[in-house]
Amino acid sequence: MSHVFHCPPTLVIDGGARHEAAQHLVRLGSRRPLVVTDAGVVRLGAIDELLSELRAAGLEPVVFADVQPDPTDQNVAAGLAQLRSASCDALVAMGGGSPIDTAKAIGALATNAAPLAQYAGYHKIPNPGLPLLAIPTTAGTGSEATKVTVITDTTRDVKMMILSAHLVPTVALVDFELTLTMPAALTAAVGVDTLTHGIEAYVSRKAFGLTDALALSCIELCGRHLHTACREPGNRAAREGMMLAACQGGLAFANSSVCLVHGMSRPIGAMFHVPHGLSNAILLPTVTRFSWPASVQRYARIARILEFARLESNDNDAARMLADGLDRWNDDLRLPPLSRCPGIDRERFLASLPRMAEAALASGSPQNNPRVPTADEIVELYRQAWVTKHEN
Ligand SMILES: [Zn+2]
Repeated sequence: MSHVFHCPPTLVIDGGARHEAAQHLVRLGSRRPLVVTDAGVVRLGAIDELLSELRAAGLEPVVFADVQPDPTDQNVAAGLAQLRSASCDALVAMGGGSPIDTAKAIGALATNAAPLAQYAGYHKIPNPGLPLLAIPTTAGTGSEATKVTVITDTTRDVKMMILSAHLVPTVALVDFELTLTMPAALTAAVGVDTLTHGIEAYVSRKAFGLTDALALSCIELCGRHLHTACREPGNRAAREGMMLAACQGGLAFANSSVCLVHGMSRPIGAMFHVPHGLSNAILLPTVTRFSWPASVQRYARIARILEFARLESNDNDAARMLADGLDRWNDDLRLPPLSRCPGIDRERFLASLPRMAEAALASGSPQNNPRVPTADEIVELYRQAWVTKHEN
């Protein structure tokens, strides 16, 4: 199979890049963009700044702010209805992964027949969507750089993974200044999600030279900057480093793939509404412990980059140390274990495991893992991720 690399045709990465939104929309011929965001971003004030800059350039922006965390097909339908009733001609997504993913789906359904569920999976969207300008406010999902959207199908309680070149944003404005006010807990969870993107893109069976370079740089930047960004929210160098890491992670995994961590994480999000970054962070050490023997050199390289293993250690020793190091990171970053996440109780979790394992396998992501698990092995991994040293 030949390797294909998709990325936004225009990607601006710099402090202050958000101020370029109006000029790109004008260039794309937009007059009435739909600004897709959520209540949290509106509270930050960044939306007011964006709207006044768009209006100053003669545009007539319309705001859709009803995106919830773990966005649903209903959020997409409501946004699409607003886009049509206001005759909008482009989309601007400002926020974390949820508003950006929602805007991608709205843009696709503007030019392709509903329902969205028929496009779940790989490359099933026939027509290009409306122009989309993505402005991330977390570092992050990397959604601004990817051809992937994840939307919950509320009739089945399943997170649909939809991948298509038609979902790549037309313009990404990657501005770390928007992350300077992110709280420490969110910084930690989305930061470990970024690290997970780098690791999964690098160990994936679909990895190749271009994705390797981005994935390794993403991992190194996380190692250098994540703890500082959590401890010192206003540290510009750390925020800039994590924003670059998130963007590189997105570019890497969208063209390589995510693997077992993301495959197992989505059912936890769909059923228990544990935030994406947090459930990935919790699963990462357990899945790494299961996976490393199938790709020893690559896991060893990651362990050395993160300084969990000495440079001169042999590959087996280095790779074996990675999972313990990731456990320590979660402790240092004060990420709670699965058993302490709000909304997830033990009985319902255990009863749901077979169905969650099935949903994980159906997403296709676990099949890209260096070690491909059976459904029974996934159930066992969920159990291991629950039982941590924090539980008592
Ligand atoms: Zn992720």
